[in-house]
Amino acid sequence: MPKLSIVVPAYNEEETLELFVDEVNKQTINLPLKKTFYFINDGSTDETLKVLKKLAVSENIKYLSFSRNFGKEAALLAGLKAADGDFVTVMDADLQDPPEMLNEMYAKILEGYDVVGTRRISRDGEPPIRSFFAKTFYKLINKISDTEMVDGARDFRLMTRQVVDSILELEEHNRFSKGLFSWVGFDTTYLAYENRERVAGTTSWNFWGLVKYSVDGIVNFSEVPLNIATFLGFLSFLASLIMGAFYFIRTLLWGDPVAGFPSMIIIILLLGGLQLLSLGILGKYMAKIFLETKKRPNYIIKEGNIKNSD
Ligand code: UDP
Ligand code: MG
Repeated sequence: MPKLSIVVPAYNEEETLELFVDEVNKQTINLPLKKTFYFINDGSTDETLKVLKKLAVSENIKYLSFSRNFGKEAALLAGLKAADGDFVTVMDADLQDPPEMLNEMYAKILEGYDVVGTRRISRDGEPPIRSFFAKTFYKLINKISDTEMVDGARDFRLMTRQVVDSILELEEHNRFSKGLFSWVGFDTTYLAYENRERVAGTTSWNFWGLVKYSVDGIVNFSEVPLNIATFLGFLSFLASLIMGAFYFIRTLLWGDPVAGFPSMIIIILLLGGLQLLSLGILGKYMAKIFLETKKRPNYIIKEGNIKNSD
């Protein structure tokens, strides 16, 4: 029987893990795949690790535990590296990714797709302001990046070994998984479903966390902000040339009646603002390069029951 690896990042999920395993097992009873769970404890401050150790008496449950919280992206990476199945799926621990969909997803894989993703068609139960910003983000990123990102697409997906190997070949430190998943290409299809609420526990995302996540997505997958900075600089240079010519000629013709203090202040503010904005954008990209060149590992594993994982 082919093997299915289920990669699950877990941060403070003590309440959900057992429910998760039970539910996945129950919903995929007829799936002709040999399942192995790979839990990555992302530096939880609750009893998640204890629960994992308890679950790991069952032979098909593996876990890794980080030395601190490194974020979901790092946990995903560690999980994908550890997973050795012929097929790999990535799921949240809170059952917001409906496990029964795995059956349908596997059917699609058998039809010949390499990747079967999922997308939420509703965002019920989510604060409207969060939905609004999420929608705006997807509109923006799809305009300014060549990598297509599907609105509502979740990390929840089923991939073939080949796809996972390709993703693991990307060695960049700043990992924006949604983008990387899409960047590698392959035949992909999306299945839609209605949003679900968490079974237990609370979300670990706050508003600013999401804003930061979006900015990362843009900076990692688009050069457009840099071009905007250049364009703005060019525009204000052009404007200064025209104004320079205008004042020069006016002075020649009519003399210089010392005036124009407000316009001067406005121009100074405008140029100063543009410069700071451009510097800020440059800084964002430089910070990425800085992190990239340090070649720090994405995570540090403190313990686990998986052999041969780096
Ligand atoms: N998660 C993680 N590290 C973090 C934050 C979250 O591993 O720093 C995991 C979390 O345990 C869950 C998944 O990522 O399995 C999604 O998190 P959450 O449900 O909080 O996000 P939401 O569904 O609200 O987007
Ligand atoms: Mg969730």
